[in-house]
Amino acid sequence: MNYPDVMEKLVSLCKRRGYIFQSSEIYGGTGSVWDYGPLGVELKKNIKDRWWNAMVRSRDNVEGLDAAILMHPRVWEASGHVAGFVDPLVDCKTCKGRFRADKLEDAHCLRKPSKRPGEFSECQLTEPRQFNLMFKTFMGAVEESAATIYLRPETAQGIFVNFLNVQQSMRQKVPFGIAQIGKAFRNEITPGNFIFRTREFEQMEMQFFVEPEKAAEWFGYWKEQRMEWHRALGLTESRLQFHQHSPEELAHYAKAAFDVEFDFGGTLGFQEIEGIHNRGDFDLAQHTEFSGRKLEYFDQPNNRRYTPWVVETSVGADRVTLAVLVNAYREESVPGEEEGRVVLGLDPALAPVKAAIFPLTKKDGQPAMAHTIAADLRRQFPVDYDESGSIGKRYRRQDEIGTPFCVTVDGESASDNSVTIRDRDTLAQDRVSTTEVARYLRDKLSP
Ligand code: ATP
Repeated sequence: MNYPDVMEKLVSLCKRRGYIFQSSEIYGGTGSVWDYGPLGVELKKNIKDRWWNAMVRSRDNVEGLDAAILMHPRVWEASGHVAGFVDPLVDCKTCKGRFRADKLEDAHCLRKPSKRPGEFSECQLTEPRQFNLMFKTFMGAVEESAATIYLRPETAQGIFVNFLNVQQSMRQKVPFGIAQIGKAFRNEITPGNFIFRTREFEQMEMQFFVEPEKAAEWFGYWKEQRMEWHRALGLTESRLQFHQHSPEELAHYAKAAFDVEFDFGGTLGFQEIEGIHNRGDFDLAQHTEFSGRKLEYFDQPNNRRYTPWVVETSVGADRVTLAVLVNAYREESVPGEEEGRVVLGLDPALAPVKAAIFPLTKKDGQPAMAHTIAADLRRQFPVDYDESGSIGKRYRRQDEIGTPFCVTVDGESASDNSVTIRDRDTLAQDRVSTTEVARYLRDKLSP
C-alpha cells in the first residue's frame, strides 16, 4: 500500500497546535533543531514512559541509568568515534552546497534541483573529504589549555563505562541489561524531514550483556520484543518491517543487525526507527584496553571469567514520535457536515490531552458545572476546558490534537446529573452520570 505524504501538513499542524516548533524561530531558526511545545512534550514523554516501563520497570534483569552527556575524551577514542564516525563529503564550488558523497543520488543540485550534484554543467564538485559528526567543545576555564571534549553522539557509551558500577552495586548476574534515555548530538550533513534526522535528539538505548554462546539466542528474543513494542504503540502492522543488514552494511565489529523500519509514506517510505545489534565483545574489550580496567564478568558457579557480549536495542524517541504522528494523521468527511475534519487518531494512552470538557452554552450554570468536572478529572489525567466557539468547532480543535474524548455539559445535566461523552473515532455519544465520568475514562484509557 502507498501511504500518502503527510509531512508538510503535519509540520503545519504541529506548529499551529503547540506540538513542535522550529528552534530559535524568531531568529530565523536553527538548522534541523526542533522544540517540543506543550502538547509535543506530553506525547514524547508518554512514549518515553512506555519504553521505560516496558524495558526497565517491568523486568528484574534490566537496570536504569542516567549517565552524563559530557564524558572523558578517551571514551570516544575507545569507541571508535574519533577515527570512524565520519561521513565523506563533497563541496560544490559553484553553489557552495555540501553533500554526502555516498548519498549523491538522493541529493539535488542547488542551482538546478531537477539534477543531482555533479550532473549540471556548472557543478564543480571537490574530492570527497572525511567529516566527523561529533560536536566538539572545551572543558575548563581557558580555551587554549582546556581539554577538547565532545557532546555524546550516542548514549550507549555511558552504559559501557558503567558496566561494572551497575553490575556490582545491583548484584546483577549475566544475562542482564542496562537502559537509559538521553540526548545525543550529531552534526548531520543531510538532516531533514522534520524531526526524522536532527542534530540534537533523544535516544532510548538498552545494552544487554550475555554469555558469548547465548548472544544469537538473546538477539532473536530482543528483536521480537522490540517489534512487539512498536505494534503496541498503535503503529499500523503493514507500515512496520525488519531490514536485515547485509554483510556490506554491518559495522566491522557487529555480528548481526536488524533495523525496525516504519513506512513514513510518500517518497520517504520505509526508514529506520530502531536498530537491534549483536555487538560481540567489541565495546567492553575496547574500554578494557583503553582504560586499563578489566570490564569482565566472573561466573562463580562455573568458575569462568569472560568479557560479556552485547545485544543492543537503540531507538530514537523523536523518530518514534514522528512515526506515531504520521501514523495517526488522517483527513475524513463527517456525516451530515460539509466541512471535513483532520484527526490525530493517537492511541488514547499516548494522547497529550485525555479529555476535553465543554459547557454546551455559557448559560444556566453550565460553565460552573463543567469547571467542577474538569477540576476533578485534572487530578487524574491531563484535560482541557473549552467554552469558546460553536460545539462543532470545539470538537474539531480536539480531533486535530488527538483528544480521545469530549465531555459536554448541556441543558439537562443539572437536573439528571449526567453528561455526554463523545468518542473521537466512532463519534458515538454515551450519556454518563457525572459521578461515573472518571471511571468511564479510566477504563477506556488503560493501554
Ligand atoms: P541513520 O542511518 O538514520 O543515520 P544510524 O544507523 O546512524 O541512523 P544509530 O546510530 O543506530 O542510527 O541510532 C539509533 C537510533 O537513533 C536510530 O534508529 C534513530 O531512531 C535514532 N537516530 C539516529 N540519528 C538520529 C538523528 N540524527 N535524528 C534523530 N534520530 C536519530
